Amino acid sequence: MPRLQPPLTHPRETAATAVPAAFARRTAVVTGAAGFIGSHLCERLLDLGAEVVGVDNLLTGRLDNLSHLRSVGGFRFQTDDVTRPFTVAGPVDFVFHLASPASPLDYARHPLATLKVGAMGTLNALELADAKHARFLLASTSEVYGDPLVHPQPEQYWGNVNPVGPRSVYDEAKRYAEALTSCFQRSGGTRTRIVRIFNTYGPRMRADDGRAVPAFIQQALAGEPITVAGDGSQTRSLCFVADTVAGLLAAATAEHADPVNLGNPHEITMLQLAEEIRAMTGSASAITFVPLPADDPKRRCPDITAARAHLGWEPTTHLRDGLRQTLDWAQQHFPRQASATTGRSAS
Ligand code: NAD
Repeated sequence: MPRLQPPLTHPRETAATAVPAAFARRTAVVTGAAGFIGSHLCERLLDLGAEVVGVDNLLTGRLDNLSHLRSVGGFRFQTDDVTRPFTVAGPVDFVFHLASPASPLDYARHPLATLKVGAMGTLNALELADAKHARFLLASTSEVYGDPLVHPQPEQYWGNVNPVGPRSVYDEAKRYAEALTSCFQRSGGTRTRIVRIFNTYGPRMRADDGRAVPAFIQQALAGEPITVAGDGSQTRSLCFVADTVAGLLAAATAEHADPVNLGNPHEITMLQLAEEIRAMTGSASAITFVPLPADDPKRRCPDITAARAHLGWEPTTHLRDGLRQTLDWAQQHFPRQASATTGRSAS
């Protein structure tokens, strides 16, 4: 059955992207499979010859993201809420735990579900890995560093997190998920990996998820004002999704068991990003400024020394190439009218 969506341009082969022969004829469970990163991960695992079981409750994901995979041999989809104990039939070699709302708008809409999936969802995914003797990978986040006081952020930095602010439902859920994962690792029964993903962008981000890249693209395509939070001087480091997926696969197979940052160390201000997207779309949109959300980090930049050293991984997709692929996709899939969401700094 032909794939209905054009494949991404995959990053240049590095030691990390060459590793995944390890996935041929293996079975991987991906929680959060119908989401943005999860759907790309499923696709890449299938390309590498793995059997994939995608698990999702469709809270923020969409079956459309998987429609091109559902008739591909080796792919199964299960509708399950991972905050309740769940299992899958047959042997499992890897559990990739990605289930969780990820954008600030989504976790503001679903605060309790976010806390639950970070806590109970992670416990249930770990118990599945434990029962199946599978390797477990937690998709954690740069948000565990909060509004960081150290730049760039190395894995040894413990963060600057407000435990009761509006973002805490996500930040603290992920910090708890890391604690739980480390507990399983220390107890010796389960081989675990923790990756701290920094801002990732690419095709299949929802136009209304509130993150800067899709929001700016949608506003530019609709000819609406591009709304930048604050004065636009806050920075983010944007990693193309194919690079992030290569990093997840490298981390899952590497011997390195400590948390590892996955992200692109190239920093860009939100104003520069808005200007770049406006130029690439040829849009005449004005750029306007809206208030910064509470606890919005002023700078985000990963230190990827550990990923380079232990995974042989680094991002290789230039921002303009990644934005071009994202834009091509958005032109086919985004609604013509800009939504009411404001383009904030990416999260
Ligand atoms: P997404 O919202 O597109 O995907 C998350 C998926 O998890 C969705 O399909 C959703 O329906 C599913 N889900 C949520 N709760 C669930 C539950 N209880 N049971 C089953 N499925 C559930 O988000 P994403 O951007 O693809 O992020 C994927 C993972 O990567 C998340 O864990 C997120 O924290 C992490 N991450 C993403 C980024 C990024 O820039 N996108 C950055 C850091 C970390």
